[in-house]
Amino acid sequence: MPGSSVQPAIAKTNNPNANYHAKTNKPAVCHGNQKTPKNVILMIGDGMGISQLGAYRYYKDDETKSGLDKLSFDQHLAGSQITISDDPVLNITDSGAAGAALATGVKTYNGAISVDKNKTPQQTVLEAYKQAGKSTGLVATSELTHATPASFAAHNESRKNENAIAEDMVRKIKVGKSYQPVVDVMYGGGVDFFQQKDKNGHVKLDLINKLKKDGFSYVTNTKQLLNDNKSSQSIGLFAPSAMAKDIDRDPAKEPSLTQMTDKAIEKLSKNKNGFFLMVEGSQPDWAGHANDLTGMMSEISAFDKAYQSALKYAQSDCNTLVIALADHATGGLSVGTGDKYEVHPKVVNNMKMTHEGLTQKLIADGADIESLINNNIQFKDLTAAERQAVVTAAQAKDEKKTLAAINKIVDVRANVAWGSRVHTGEEVHVYAYGPGREKFVGVQDNTQNAQNIFSFLKK
Ligand SMILES: [Zn+2]
Repeated sequence: MPGSSVQPAIAKTNNPNANYHAKTNKPAVCHGNQKTPKNVILMIGDGMGISQLGAYRYYKDDETKSGLDKLSFDQHLAGSQITISDDPVLNITDSGAAGAALATGVKTYNGAISVDKNKTPQQTVLEAYKQAGKSTGLVATSELTHATPASFAAHNESRKNENAIAEDMVRKIKVGKSYQPVVDVMYGGGVDFFQQKDKNGHVKLDLINKLKKDGFSYVTNTKQLLNDNKSSQSIGLFAPSAMAKDIDRDPAKEPSLTQMTDKAIEKLSKNKNGFFLMVEGSQPDWAGHANDLTGMMSEISAFDKAYQSALKYAQSDCNTLVIALADHATGGLSVGTGDKYEVHPKVVNNMKMTHEGLTQKLIADGADIESLINNNIQFKDLTAAERQAVVTAAQAKDEKKTLAAINKIVDVRANVAWGSRVHTGEEVHVYAYGPGREKFVGVQDNTQNAQNIFSFLKK
């Protein structure tokens, strides 16, 4: 990578985002220590591998101009990270082991939540930043207790123990002489884990109430999130478990990844000592598992927008390092397949829902299958056989076959193929902007991510 293509680590003082300062009353001049970031925003696109980003580049491209356009990430490319876990059997990582590496700097087995191979809890960067007097936040579109966000604030021998993980995520840790909640701001899905019910549906453990007693605000829809100016500590849970994918989302009920990121930054940046924020675009991974190209483009697009928003903050603040990376790639997406020198990811614009989201609707009791197909699969050249394959599978309530029939319609037209239903082992791109970015340059192990972030706390 030629040095000339790399954006300087520090924004120029005449930056175009000076209007941010009007809102925050900060001086419109960049300031602060240029080597050690006060704030760190770590953005993880789960499953967002290099080929997934390659397909997204075609998807986003303005085809009236020759060549492919730049992505927002491009000018901040720092290097790559190797994602392999330290599992006794498997040599491709899951999000648990990858989360532990990114959050603690320790390699572990697949399924672990920030414990090492001996199941001993390892300190996370979020915990270290909290103990250094900074504020901490987690944003995700999965349930917050899912492997990646959990890895930053919980310790468990198994990612499956989501109830115990929720309890861990609201615990207090020692900060100076007092005990404080480990995470100050949490936005994502997962009411069911933070308000645990017994078999009869009665709440038996209310962790939300616990946080409210500690002064947290609690928000459950987009309007409440955007209007919440009450407390600098907040929990926002917008779905019983995972949130919907971006294009399947009801924007009144569930905020976008960008809206959650912006609100988290707004709250966390009130701490003059700084903050650590982890933002996960959780579901490129799930789209990859489902081999759902529409879902993949939807989720990378949502992540891209959130990245640009975080970047805007960093460019005006000059004390903030923004890192964007994937924890691993998912789905083995081939950007072009067969004998054709062609790939057309833009065809997903004919889909009005993700393949996974549409499948759930098609196999639901009482589904109006014909209308669902008409409204959501809008290829003019859809053949009778393609349509019938979806109808037959949906009528049989066969989830796998319904999804496969929809995938096929899109993949044939996009000319893509999928080599895996799970994760793949290649390295991932790492992007970084702001003070400290030079530590991420080159080919690194994913444990280096945490070690770099820890190092900024050393005086
Ligand atoms: Zn996965």
